[in-house]
Amino acid sequence: MLYLYNTLTRKKEKFVPLQKGIVKIYSCGPTVYDYAHIGNFRAYVFEDLLRRYLKYKGYHVFQVMNITDVDDKTISGAKRKGIKLNDFTKKYSNAFFEDLEKLNIERVEEYPRATEHIPEMVKLIEILLKKSFAYEKDGSIYFKISQFEDYGKLSGMPAYASSFAKATEDKKATADRPSFDTQRQACPPKSAAGGRRREDADEYDKENPADFVLWKKAKEDEPSWPGPAGKRGRPGWHIECSAMSMKYLGESFDIHTGGEDNIFPHHENEIAQSEAATGKKFAHYWLHCKFLLVNNEKMAKSKGNFFTLRDLLKKDYNPLTIRFLLLSTHYRHTLNFTLGGLSQAEQTLRKLSDFCLNIKTYLHPRRASKVSFKERIKRAERDFEKAMDDDLNISAALAALFDLVKDINKAISEERIGKSDLADAGSLIKKINAMLGILKFDSPKEIGEEEKKLIRQREEARRERDFKLADGIREKLKKRGIILEDTRDGGRWKKIC
Ligand code: AMP
Ligand code: ZN
Repeated sequence: MLYLYNTLTRKKEKFVPLQKGIVKIYSCGPTVYDYAHIGNFRAYVFEDLLRRYLKYKGYHVFQVMNITDVDDKTISGAKRKGIKLNDFTKKYSNAFFEDLEKLNIERVEEYPRATEHIPEMVKLIEILLKKSFAYEKDGSIYFKISQFEDYGKLSGMPAYASSFAKATEDKKATADRPSFDTQRQACPPKSAAGGRRREDADEYDKENPADFVLWKKAKEDEPSWPGPAGKRGRPGWHIECSAMSMKYLGESFDIHTGGEDNIFPHHENEIAQSEAATGKKFAHYWLHCKFLLVNNEKMAKSKGNFFTLRDLLKKDYNPLTIRFLLLSTHYRHTLNFTLGGLSQAEQTLRKLSDFCLNIKTYLHPRRASKVSFKERIKRAERDFEKAMDDDLNISAALAALFDLVKDINKAISEERIGKSDLADAGSLIKKINAMLGILKFDSPKEIGEEEKKLIRQREEARRERDFKLADGIREKLKKRGIILEDTRDGGRWKKIC
């Protein structure tokens, strides 16, 4: 049975989907104004692990990730370049998909773009206006948080957010009352370090500083669309996720994910808008991954302390090593990024690929097996799954896997394991890897010209009985992930990772 930590209830809960066998997930996606940094990819890799583990457990997953292609940053980026918004964002959304592929992140079922869902957002805002959860001020439309009783249930913000809202409304707010931002810093939500940007930074009038914008009045030099109550403008960031998640997943769905910075105000506001409009519970489980840090600070564009995937690939790191590093720390623990950590991840991953090589090169054990490893292998599988069932405890799951690797490697070196047990161990690694996606088993066609030449040289050396040279070439190829097997019918090779 899978347990997941729900930010909404602040505890681990048994995971039960709304519809038997099907899991519907919404994940907050990228704002496409630049290349995503690997902090962003920590969130996407965590979401990929969640998705893959649910599938591993036999669920059918339907997942949606939005592409934010209109906001202050995309608009100013397009303006700076003097090109259309769509041409500007296309470059970065294409780059995003290329990066996903390199990191072996599975494509989700839908990637809706904000600019292609304006009518759905307008409709939702109209409902909120009709139900008096929203008001218009100077051409923009705002959500009135004091009207939504449950405001703050996700982030733990209600005490001061809504009481401050009420105080302002009652015109009782006095000069000595700290501003909303000061209060936010004095009493931050448990994990939403520092709140959010965008809408907060925009200069629009509202009745109450804590209210948030749903629809922004059109500006002359900005893209705009026909809007609610006949007001031309563009959507706020939060409404985009409410409208698109409900369009593809329904008014209530299973899991909503994002990085911890999304908890407040973004997800809090999504809940307010959606539940105010429908009267139904929006997402049932809220999962948030902790930040990727650099020198103990959040990796962020604004701090300039970030690496894009492209930066690291230029330094010759394997994208799967980066995936492994991002994935191998439990998603609710912060991860401090260093190049040293990346090299460590490379070594750990090599242990696993070496193990696969060991299994393959030891296909014909000389002695019959004395001990059965069947139960040992089953135990590793059970321990792995037990750890993953505990809120995706990947560190414990990997520990179970590497313990098995150690035991089997030892048995191989002592020649006390049989062919069938080795095959079982190999199948388990393959099954787990199909879920973790950290090793690639390439097809034979993908071998390079240089390697083909080395294989020919080795064949020749063997024919001439120069076994020293033949073994040297075999080792060289093994380092490149190519395994040579000598069979009665001649030599054959396999490529792994
Ligand atoms: P953004 O494009 O800023 O909206 O971020 C896209 C996703 O990346 C969101 O789910 C963020 O919470 C997440 N994110 C941004 N920075 C980090 C970081 N340093 N560590 C982990 N997740 C992050
Ligand atoms: Zn979102």
